[in-house]
Amino acid sequence: MADKSFSAFQMAQTQFDQVAEKLNLDQPTRELLRMPMREYHFSIPVRMDDGSIRIFRGFRVQHNDARGPCKGGIRFHPQETIDTVRALSMWMTWKCAVVDIPLGGGKGGVICDPHDLSQREQEAICRGWVRQVARNVGPLSDVPAPDVMTNAQHMLWMLDEFETIHGGRFPGFITGKPVGMGGSLGRTEATGFGVIFTLREALRELGIKLENTVASVQGFGNVALYAARLYQQLGGKVICVASWDQTDQAAYSFRKASGVDVDALLGITDRFGGIDKNKARSLGYEVLPGEAWMVQDVDILIPAALENQITGENVGNIHSRVRVIVEGANGPTAPGADSVIRERGIYIIPDFLANAGGVTCSYFEQVQSNMNYYWEKDEVLSKLDTKMTSAFQAVHNLAKKNKLYMRDAAYIISIGRVAQACKDRGWV
Ligand code: NAD
Repeated sequence: MADKSFSAFQMAQTQFDQVAEKLNLDQPTRELLRMPMREYHFSIPVRMDDGSIRIFRGFRVQHNDARGPCKGGIRFHPQETIDTVRALSMWMTWKCAVVDIPLGGGKGGVICDPHDLSQREQEAICRGWVRQVARNVGPLSDVPAPDVMTNAQHMLWMLDEFETIHGGRFPGFITGKPVGMGGSLGRTEATGFGVIFTLREALRELGIKLENTVASVQGFGNVALYAARLYQQLGGKVICVASWDQTDQAAYSFRKASGVDVDALLGITDRFGGIDKNKARSLGYEVLPGEAWMVQDVDILIPAALENQITGENVGNIHSRVRVIVEGANGPTAPGADSVIRERGIYIIPDFLANAGGVTCSYFEQVQSNMNYYWEKDEVLSKLDTKMTSAFQAVHNLAKKNKLYMRDAAYIISIGRVAQACKDRGWV
């Protein structure tokens, strides 16, 4: 979202085209899968607290629903674009397919900056968003969820609006709801934990003991936080995290060679995952430039902030010690960097596999909501571990057998599954 010349959708299409070629997909299937099936663009008028009216732009993109209802988050971001939403919706299709859950891909967004909006104004945007697409989404067609700068409260406002419009209780309409209001235990941890479940398996395959490893993480939001926490619980050491400073409009990295204390840092982090740099200094952290997280002397890099961070220009700065990159964020690695990562023999766990824990747990939430019966946290997390581990193994085994780059292997599995579903339905 940061760089205007960068097109996330072109990147998603380039990745797709390369795999379509490898799979020798027929032309109609390629045409169908390289574009979203449906897109909604709309305006959301909101009366602001000062009495003025502002019009926000909202989107919902449904990339493909051959394997089940579309699934995907809604982002609130000032630099949100339809291009990003399209790319993310496509990645959601592949993500649901790679973990083999019966859902398709969708994504939504609103161009807005929650930093400058009151709770009431955010509620109005949420309700306005639902009013614009209430007939085109729902538990059987398209199920939204939180993403960057949206949370459980936003989901509950959206659910309430949807239920008001449709006259009934439909907790399966949206996921990421508060626990006790249709949310699933374990959803908050799910994406970050899922990242570490796949990392644990990768290290096992590589014969590396997790407790002997050191990692650097970009981000300190939902994904990064829980990934760092579980990784440290399993015995690893995180020495650097990075976050966005709203006041300076710049990113910073926070380094502590003895290992970062996740809970202490959480105490000096704003609700958007931005760490207070002055307080961090007083806790003994070195405050370094935004890109410093990437050049650390570590075994593992976990980009868990946003897309297009490891690029053809900066990939060469990655330390020679790095053995594994596990992509917590969506699209953090540009195609120009992939070839270098591959040549250097760095093991990559691609985004739509590594961060699929969130959507997998969302799927569990949807199942529980539709049954109106809720599982214990341990049950949720153990089902999550099983799903992530088996998805990882399938991709790893294919990559090993056919000497493929992990990203290609993951794409081959997921695109193959979606293409087959389109064929089985008689669409192509
Ligand atoms: P979040 O808003 O909770 O946190 C984002 C973090 O990134 C914050 O700490 C922020 O300060 C930091 N950040 C922003 N810009 C930065 C920059 N330029 N440099 C360094 N740090 C920066 O978001 P999240 O939910 O943790 O999502 C992070 C990524 O993971 C996104 O790409 C998102 O699409 C993806 N993802 C999230 C989930 C989920 O369940 N939350 C699931 C799958 C994928």
